[in-house]
Amino acid sequence: MNKHRSRLDAVNYYTATRKYDVQYPRLTQDLDVDVVVIGGGFSGVNTALELAEKGIANIAILEARHLGYGGTGRNGGQVMAGIGHDIDAMEKHVGPDGMNILFQIASEGAGILRARAEKYGINADVHRGYGYLAVNQRQARTLRKWEKEFRDAEPDEDIQYVDGPAVQGIVGSDVYCAAIRHMGGGHVHSLNLLLGEARAAVSLGVKIFENSPVTAVEYGDTIIVRTNAGIVRARKLLWACDSFLDGLEPEISSRTINTYSFQIATEPLSDAVCAQISPFRGAYSDISPVINYFRVTAENRLLFGSATRLVEYFPADYAAWNRDLLRGLFPYLADVKIDYAWGGAMACSANLFPQIGSLSRCRNAFFVQGYSGFGVTPSHIVCKVLAEGISEGSARYDLMSSIPHARILGRDKARPAIMTAAKSWHQLSGFFNGR
Ligand SMILES: Cc1cc2nc3c(=O)[nH]c(=O)nc-3n(C[C@H](O)[C@H](O)[C@H](O)COP(=O)(O)OP(=O)(O)OC[C@H]3O[C@@H](n4cnc5c(N)ncnc54)[C@H](O)[C@@H]3O)c2cc1C
Repeated sequence: MNKHRSRLDAVNYYTATRKYDVQYPRLTQDLDVDVVVIGGGFSGVNTALELAEKGIANIAILEARHLGYGGTGRNGGQVMAGIGHDIDAMEKHVGPDGMNILFQIASEGAGILRARAEKYGINADVHRGYGYLAVNQRQARTLRKWEKEFRDAEPDEDIQYVDGPAVQGIVGSDVYCAAIRHMGGGHVHSLNLLLGEARAAVSLGVKIFENSPVTAVEYGDTIIVRTNAGIVRARKLLWACDSFLDGLEPEISSRTINTYSFQIATEPLSDAVCAQISPFRGAYSDISPVINYFRVTAENRLLFGSATRLVEYFPADYAAWNRDLLRGLFPYLADVKIDYAWGGAMACSANLFPQIGSLSRCRNAFFVQGYSGFGVTPSHIVCKVLAEGISEGSARYDLMSSIPHARILGRDKARPAIMTAAKSWHQLSGFFNGR
């Protein structure tokens, strides 16, 4: 993994276009706070912001590198509907009444994200419009079903299924035979959103420390968190490190496994080419088990990403690898220049559902992780529910945290083999489920 790190960490579209030039100090003192948050991505910052909005603002966020160093500053910026990949599979854990609550939770994420950007005046290119795409008739039939489910969940939303030639009105590619245009989804500059949310949290009293990796935690009524240059004592703690936890807290790191996605951003394209790719400038993904995803950014770049489909490996050249996929979808982009290529890890849970809860040996130490590649929208609602659990408690926190988290045996020693087996299974079961 280490030999791949510099390519995964290469300057990416987000760092090159960040609008908030803010840096936070390193922790070099001892602090007493109500809540200490470990990890400065969407999960850590949004939970802190939710708590601060409730009046619990004596919070310290400790980030090992810089805000958005993790998945939050590397993702596709796709604001998709829902939460988790297969919410229906949760029924065996929560029952039919619990499912109603989960569906309600799942419908809130995108609204919270947009409201937050608006409330705090965050400049994050928030854009409405999402295209779910079918590459064959099996997937088209699934999209028909999804259209009904989407409409049932959000009756007031603009949601439209099309097939045949009308698909060209949604996306400029001959590859797709059907599509749903869902105006409740969309896309966002996720790093700028995060930095704006961090600024909002700080304005309410939250303290943020960058370049402050946590090296040890001692649990107790008062939790002691150590970095190389400082100590934070807190009544409550939140682990929000997702794919970067690196075994620091074994109880939760054993419950996810990392997989990787790779992205490119092209040179800026003409308005005409952007309109051809994306008539409503939405975000898009197909509905295959491992998706291709893309969108046109505010600067007219095409941002495109994917992951390996069956065998888990790091492509030798992310730009060339994505260009091949891009060429298959948009032959007219065969010669565009690629300005940025990068990648990132995604922590996957066994059931592909995000995990929240508290540690068995310290009920005041909470965690959130395992968005399984789908955390931009979900982190906004999951962390609202989590903040309820950390503060006053709530029925929906109790429900979400009751979903069991299976341990993934061999996750460290046999990661590529496990992920290859999981991807093969995911493809096969996806085929029989209309994907
Ligand atoms: C390439 C890629 C594309 C993606 N595309 C999409 C998409 O289009 N749509 C979507 O919904 N989701 C997408 N995702 C997933 C989404 O980005 C993540 O689910 C989400 O950002 C996770 O946020 P987080 O805050 O939980 O974790 P992260 O953003 O990963 O943050 C964790 C932070 O913890 C810090 N940390 C780790 N250890 C320590 C320590 N010891 N001390 C202090 N800090 C520590 C890390 O430095 C990191 O900044 C994508 C992910 C990747 C990698």
